[in-house]
Amino acid sequence: MFDSKYMTTGKLDDYIQSRKFEDYIYILLNKAYPEIKDRNVRIEWGRAVANAAIIRSQNKTDIIRCNRTVRNWPEPVLYGLLSHELSHIALRVNLHNEFQADRDVIERGLGPYLATERLYTNKQTDHILRDGEDRYLGYISIRKLLSSSEVHQLDTLMSDLGL
Ligand SMILES: [Zn+2]
Repeated sequence: MFDSKYMTTGKLDDYIQSRKFEDYIYILLNKAYPEIKDRNVRIEWGRAVANAAIIRSQNKTDIIRCNRTVRNWPEPVLYGLLSHELSHIALRVNLHNEFQADRDVIERGLGPYLATERLYTNKQTDHILRDGEDRYLGYISIRKLLSSSEVHQLDTLMSDLGL
């Protein structure tokens, strides 16, 4: 698809990067999120807490805003980052519960990617939020929740990435 708007506003790189991210999202949705696979998930670039955040969910469309700094992250790390956001969409009940989103990613079999993302961003231990009411899981906690075959997958991913 060609959209001349992006050529004339100098936003071509944003456009190309968005398509790449949306391809990753498409793969994740079809692999692990059957109940929301028909949602239209779009990428927007800008300032986002924790590198990526859902900024709008309505009708059949969700907008994930990502920091430009994540653009050159390796593909498995981006699967981890984006799956956390997709779990927020899938859970709906509480968009702001980070612990539930992390657990949901792991339950869907994407834990090795989530652990890779946490290690890549140097988050070894849990990050406690709101006086312990919520938390992001760190690499160590996620690893403990994985099956032995997932731990093997994680170790393979990490050695591929030189982590
Ligand atoms: Zn989150």
